Amino acid sequence: MTDKERIAQLTKELNEHNYRYYVLDEPVISDFEFDVLLKELQSLELKHPEFKDPNSPTSRVGGEITKNFNTVQHLHRMYSLNNCYSSDELMEWTDRLEKMVDGHIGFACELKYDGASINLTYRDGKLVSAVTRGDGFQGDDVTTNIKTIRSVPLILKGDYPELFEIRGEVVLPFEGFNKMNEERIAQGEEPYRNPRNTASGSLKLQDSGEVAKRPLECLFYHIVGAEIGLKTHFEMLQKARDWGFKVPPEPKISKNIKEVMSYISHWDKKRYDLPYETDGVVVKVNDLHQQQEMGYTAKAPRWAIAYKFQAEQGSTILRSVSYQVGRTGAVTPVANLDPVSLAGTVVKRASLHNADQIEKLDVRIGDTVYVEKGGEIIPKIVGVDLELRPKDSQRLEYITHCPECGTELIRKEGEAQHYCPNSLHCRPQIVGRIEHFISRKAMDIEGLGGETVALLVANGLASTYADLYDLKKEDVLPLERMAEKSADNLINGIEKSKGVPFERVLFALGIRYVGETVAKKLARHFKNIDSLMAATQEELEGVEEIGVKIAESVKEFFGNLENVDIIERLKDKGLNFSLSEEILSNRTDKLNGNIFVVSGVFESVSRDELKRLIEENGGKVGSSISSKTNYVVAGDKMGPSKRIKAESLGIPIIDEYSFISMIQ
Ligand code: AMP
Ligand code: ZN
Repeated sequence: MTDKERIAQLTKELNEHNYRYYVLDEPVISDFEFDVLLKELQSLELKHPEFKDPNSPTSRVGGEITKNFNTVQHLHRMYSLNNCYSSDELMEWTDRLEKMVDGHIGFACELKYDGASINLTYRDGKLVSAVTRGDGFQGDDVTTNIKTIRSVPLILKGDYPELFEIRGEVVLPFEGFNKMNEERIAQGEEPYRNPRNTASGSLKLQDSGEVAKRPLECLFYHIVGAEIGLKTHFEMLQKARDWGFKVPPEPKISKNIKEVMSYISHWDKKRYDLPYETDGVVVKVNDLHQQQEMGYTAKAPRWAIAYKFQAEQGSTILRSVSYQVGRTGAVTPVANLDPVSLAGTVVKRASLHNADQIEKLDVRIGDTVYVEKGGEIIPKIVGVDLELRPKDSQRLEYITHCPECGTELIRKEGEAQHYCPNSLHCRPQIVGRIEHFISRKAMDIEGLGGETVALLVANGLASTYADLYDLKKEDVLPLERMAEKSADNLINGIEKSKGVPFERVLFALGIRYVGETVAKKLARHFKNIDSLMAATQEELEGVEEIGVKIAESVKEFFGNLENVDIIERLKDKGLNFSLSEEILSNRTDKLNGNIFVVSGVFESVSRDELKRLIEENGGKVGSSISSKTNYVVAGDKMGPSKRIKAESLGIPIIDEYSFISMIQ
């Protein structure tokens, strides 16, 4: 088989596996096997960029940067939906419909997915553009970002028409949303408030590589502009499934309005069991011919209506407020309530967010409060019934000291949250720091999990992560549920972590705002911990993309002698505190014969380093883009004229990480 044929074959196979995994949820190969095939395709495409399909599964990893999204006209207008909130309004709607057409009207009911709407255009079975709704006539071209969503088919299957548009909703399922937030909290960042805003914000991110990391999904509900002899909306949904689109299984045909109502009341209760957010039911006339007869008003179809769910509210009494200290020291006030049943669950606690929120609501102990369970997973208090307020009630005083360790709380300017600054000796923070230290992207210590960490701390066996390296088997054996074998695993896992490279050790230290990427940048720049610790505020800010906030946080961390002491202990134990020279001095001939042009600002390497890496691995560095150029390695702030030139010549634009994976 020629390389060209193999590229075509792999493209087809990988697209099929993607479909099986992300749309059908029925994978037939392991993640590992998938990666092997993907790597093979990547390297073949590298060798023959001319054979790369623009809709290759390798484009799922993203990496392209968009500074300004182009405005694009929709082929067909994207309408809004009329809303209703009661069965009466629904009946009025059907009464109006009955006057418009002859014959029985049947309905198709589906959920109203709560995310960001998107319009995709396919030509000859390939995705050509993805555009946001915008004003309904035109929107922003976010194709590179949408391509990273695994459930969006890049190449279709079956009997698709030559050209059509399909509409769907980009959502962020709860599971992935929660995971993203856990990671943010571990890095000392504010969690995202709700899945919908995060999903719609994702579409406009400039770095498609960043979008690729978010577990977004796209759920489809409407095909436009295809004359394929379909009779009903329901058949249309099935067609979309046949072509490879993800259409949820919940849509249902309802013969009459009574069945519509029972669909609505079913999902009003059951919606909390769905993996993603919904805010209502969309009722559509099922017969496409009838739809056509009914037509559109100025802003919405007459043949469809959205029945909006009420955010479920209840009222109950606030008994007390407790304060939770998170692993980063952030304090969250929590309301303890008389149990109230909301959206099918019994609620006893609700979030009060922060001191400002308490002040704004002026909630007081003994108050009758309104509790709501909306998009956010934790219920919240939205108001107070002042008429029922007890006469002697007092304004709530926010705590001044940490409920865990007694340290005075601080609140930084411009921040809503109070913090306990005692990061080294406050119990949840001790546990949190160790958990972060051992996590997969940090030291990745196998055999040690969150529960064991809590036990180690509770039993006085560890109060910092440095203590882990003093642990002996006989120390941990007496712990609850610690068998011989798991004790061995734990000790081995800790020992093995000594081989983790410097940049990950730096990330593991848990310096506020120093996430994975920042840790890499700092490691690359300073090469070892001693020069990093000696760096002045100015030197830190001088590093590409390190701002005042990060620099201050790094200074503060190393300014604390206890941290310095912990690092000395870790050094003695043999952890890596300098950059391994391996990557930097590894010469290969992997890039032989390829000419690269480097443009923009990079995160993990400097431009000079990048050029050196190209040359040391057999490539050549070109000064300007021409038809001889094989690749453009693009960082942030790449000039638009360069981008246009590269695109017009069909030269692949890759980011630094794809480049580094080429030489590894
Ligand atoms: P609205 O934003 O309130 O005007 O409602 C219209 C929007 O609902 C559309 O633009 C879609 O993005 C969204 N939507 C979500 N689920 C559906 C669905 N099943 N059918 C039609 N529209 C939907
Ligand atoms: Zn504390």
